[in-house]
Amino acid sequence: MALGLRPHAPLDPWSYADHLNVTLLEFGKLGLRAQTVRQLTTVDGDSWSAMTLKMDEAFAIVLNPSHAITRQRSDLAHELSHIELRHVPARVEVSETGLLLLSDFSDEQEQEADWHGGALLLPRDGLVRMRSDRNSTAEIATYYGVSTALCEWRLRMTGVDVQMRRANPRR
Ligand SMILES: [Zn+2]
Repeated sequence: MALGLRPHAPLDPWSYADHLNVTLLEFGKLGLRAQTVRQLTTVDGDSWSAMTLKMDEAFAIVLNPSHAITRQRSDLAHELSHIELRHVPARVEVSETGLLLLSDFSDEQEQEADWHGGALLLPRDGLVRMRSDRNSTAEIATYYGVSTALCEWRLRMTGVDVQMRRANPRR
């Protein structure tokens, strides 16, 4: 497997970014136009979570450092998914330093990135394994370093809990 992971082991999205040659950048060092900074930090306030940038042919990602680490993990996995799936955004902003800020992905692309990112962080086989070992949703979320909400979503969307109930109807 990529990165030599044991099956079902939690993926570290920062290592995965490294593996994909994606650089993590700090927001304050981007040289974004004042208007863009204002838009992101005050107008959208807390809502911005991550950005993907293109420098020449290389990609970079900026995470909102004020967010919980569980959220940063899922945001990073989401942004890496846009890159891996070669999504092309509808709009691109150019910073003073010539960075391209990719924005306005379509709803379909956002859903694809959510799905792909969720699968990176919470592999279906791992969910089945942990449910078979009778781990709670919170325990699975802790093991994989994600929020309980994301874990619940993956368990539902992958049909793992339905599958477990069918396999063990008396549980
Ligand atoms: Zn996105």
